[in-house]
Amino acid sequence: MSVANIAEAVLVLNSGSSSLKTALFVNREDQPIATCLAERLGTAEAVLHWSNEAGKTTYELTDGSMAEALAKVVELVEAALGSLAPLVAVGHRVVHGGESFGKATLVDEEVAAEIARLSALAPLHNPANLAGIHAMRDRCPAVPQIAVFDTAFHQTLPEHAYLYPVPKTLYQAHKVRRYGFHGTSHQFVSREAVKVASLPADDHGLIVAHLGNGCSATAVVNGESRDTTMGLTPLEGLMMGTRSGDVDPGLLSFLADQTGKTLDEITSMLNKESGLLGLSGLSNDMRTVSEAAEQGNQNAQIALDVFCYRLARQIMALTAALPKLDALVFTGGIGENSRLVRKRVTEHLRVLKIEIADERNADNGKSSNHVISPEDAAVKVMVVNTNEEWEIANQSLALLEK
Ligand code: AMP
Repeated sequence: MSVANIAEAVLVLNSGSSSLKTALFVNREDQPIATCLAERLGTAEAVLHWSNEAGKTTYELTDGSMAEALAKVVELVEAALGSLAPLVAVGHRVVHGGESFGKATLVDEEVAAEIARLSALAPLHNPANLAGIHAMRDRCPAVPQIAVFDTAFHQTLPEHAYLYPVPKTLYQAHKVRRYGFHGTSHQFVSREAVKVASLPADDHGLIVAHLGNGCSATAVVNGESRDTTMGLTPLEGLMMGTRSGDVDPGLLSFLADQTGKTLDEITSMLNKESGLLGLSGLSNDMRTVSEAAEQGNQNAQIALDVFCYRLARQIMALTAALPKLDALVFTGGIGENSRLVRKRVTEHLRVLKIEIADERNADNGKSSNHVISPEDAAVKVMVVNTNEEWEIANQSLALLEK
């Protein structure tokens, strides 16, 4: 797109502890004109990849800090837009908004302090997200910085869905409760699904299964999250690439007794060495596990069986939050691309009258959202491509318009 045609731009930023991802949207189009991935920040090998229609360019960073990476991003954004004048907002993905943030929020001193305070609930993520906000604000002080929270969409969970059955004082003193994550994706995908299935905005019940490296499923009623599989942390719920999802809480003390491992070591094992990787012993990547399963690798077959069965079991459990089930929606890298997972999961869900048409399921729908259940099915099964970055840009623009 020529610079002269750019009237308005939004930069979306997802800053982690050692990485930074950005996407640059212009003129309210839902595909970015440029994306950036900076990796290995904080090390001597830090690099920044910038991709646009001309291809991918890699830059080496000298001190490898977040501030240096962001300065480079701003320089590249300025070049892409001709100047920073069209940049109306920077939308930041922030992992934890606790009970303080139920929607996208303009960041001022007070909001930044609250995000910092919520770091107790997301010690790996919120400080990194905040570092991105501060660095960007230093760089572009005139541009509004907007925080879009992973937890916000789930702030509509009723008390009976968000409370754990533990002493109530833990909620009062430490805010121990279920929060849910992947909210931006669940919100975007459920809205798209309602359009694809031509459902009424004020009368629908959906289950959205976001299956990527992290996996979670959400029950959505009339555009609101009513229950979700992730909880206080993103470890609860479904089996994932390297995360176990639900296990018996008694496992922690049992393993500590049996192996002498510390609580930190066991938690790290449940987060980083479990899931598809832990059961297959091969990989956290569904493509690798599926291929190995097809070639007869038994550990890979079991990993796939457990993944699909546990997902089906959780989908059934989530129906308890719905007055009716209109549609089951698959999204995320696995949900959008693995016809094998979609088939295996839905085979466990016949009791819910869920079925898919094989010829429709065979179309991976990378470019378009589509229905994969038979024409007259009681429950629609759909594949909808997620676009979390665009949802962040969109929510940022909507906030500015208010
Ligand atoms: P995401 O985090 O949304 O990028 O999703 C990553 C996951 O999607 C990884 O487990 C990938 O193996 C999986 N994935 C991507 N493409 C495919 C595919 N064609 N078949 C199966 N899994 C896939």
